[in-house]
Amino acid sequence: MLVYSTLSREKEEFKPIKGKIVKMFVCGPTVYDYPHIGHAKTYVAMDVVARYLRFKGYSVFYVQNITDIDDKIINRAREMNIKAEELADRFLRIYYEDMEKLNVKSVNLFARATQHVEEIIEQTEMLIEKGFAYESNGNVYFDVSKFSDFGKLSGQKKEELIAGARVEVDENKKSPEDFALWKSMKEGEPFWNSPWGRGRPGWHIEDTAISLNYLGESYDVHGGGIDLIFPHHEAEVAIAESLTGKKPFVRYWLHTGFLLVNGEKMAKSLGNFLTIRGILEKYEPMTLRFFLLYAHYRSPIDFSYELLNEADEAYKRLDTSFRRAQRSEGTDKEGGEDRELKETLLSCKHRFFEAMDDDFNTREAIAALFPLAKAINVSPLSDVETVSEVRSFIKDVSEILGLFESKEEKNIKPEIIDAILDIRKMLREEKRYDLADRIRAKLSECGIEIEDSGKETRWKIS
Ligand SMILES: [Zn+2]
Repeated sequence: MLVYSTLSREKEEFKPIKGKIVKMFVCGPTVYDYPHIGHAKTYVAMDVVARYLRFKGYSVFYVQNITDIDDKIINRAREMNIKAEELADRFLRIYYEDMEKLNVKSVNLFARATQHVEEIIEQTEMLIEKGFAYESNGNVYFDVSKFSDFGKLSGQKKEELIAGARVEVDENKKSPEDFALWKSMKEGEPFWNSPWGRGRPGWHIEDTAISLNYLGESYDVHGGGIDLIFPHHEAEVAIAESLTGKKPFVRYWLHTGFLLVNGEKMAKSLGNFLTIRGILEKYEPMTLRFFLLYAHYRSPIDFSYELLNEADEAYKRLDTSFRRAQRSEGTDKEGGEDRELKETLLSCKHRFFEAMDDDFNTREAIAALFPLAKAINVSPLSDVETVSEVRSFIKDVSEILGLFESKEEKNIKPEIIDAILDIRKMLREEKRYDLADRIRAKLSECGIEIEDSGKETRWKIS
């Protein structure tokens, strides 16, 4: 299996550090707003990376950090007149909900920055001790001039980095490209006590504090959006390798391409900011997931509703055919061969896995499914053996891509839902709407959407 790494700028044979164990880290969101479809692109892509590795027999331990303390959070909380903590909790919950809807389920551990401040302080102290960082007026900065490999991930030269460093007048720093490990408290900000006084962690060290803690000094896969390569990931490499002396800190750096909207970068100021929630008001979650996966993860996606509509149609076409196959068990045990279906299955399977083995090329893998869907549609689905092979392949595909999951697999017993709705009806009659609403919310978490019309309540599996 080949995997492209930003560090080597080429596809490399995938070989984890230790046998079949894969340790994987992906930069999670800063929880200050509704997740947008750019987030969806990265997290759906990385979900498939983890799923595919697991499918291939690797034991994947996948950690995502959550940035729950940051300037954006503090500012937004101030605007809304609530505590930073409360704002972060609220948007973290929304993030989990959105990911659940998109069937992003492969993360083993979410680690919040504010729960790792102790580790962050320890790393900062160690960096000062080793001479890689310095304190200045209650702030601590990483001294980029001490780390000669700075720029190796983004492929930039040091002079370019200095020229490119934001011209921010900061008299505390020795050099403009130095970055903050610890920030001293400003009036009214949340703070933690540290050897340098009250303050809070910088962004980059949050990830290394978490990843070194859970994944060790070197690990296999680090993923994230392409916009994070510099300075964020560059800074992570500098921190980790300075601390441990072990190179490389990460074996494979996987970066997802940009998501544009009608050719432009998504920005609140341009009015083209699309949240996951906003899209899911009009489209099925699996349509969005399919749309995102019907592109290679490193390619940029130019989002438009026209393309999303096309994806919707394509997904439904595949899904309908696959369901037809999944419902059938074949009728002819004597091996009434269905040559065409059998042959299409073989070539499709080959193409699918070849594409997945080529740097998780979901675009090509999905393209390989269309001829199979076509063959299912025209097949009598009689040959028991072929039908069973088709079904088992669809099951694998669904496990890998997180699409085409049969609703039966969710194991929902209609009688139980009816019983719950019966109780909800009684509550509504007694005007206990708060409880009735909670039942609705709980069912929704289990993937069951209910709809009241008059006294009747209908439900469907979402
Ligand atoms: Zn990060």
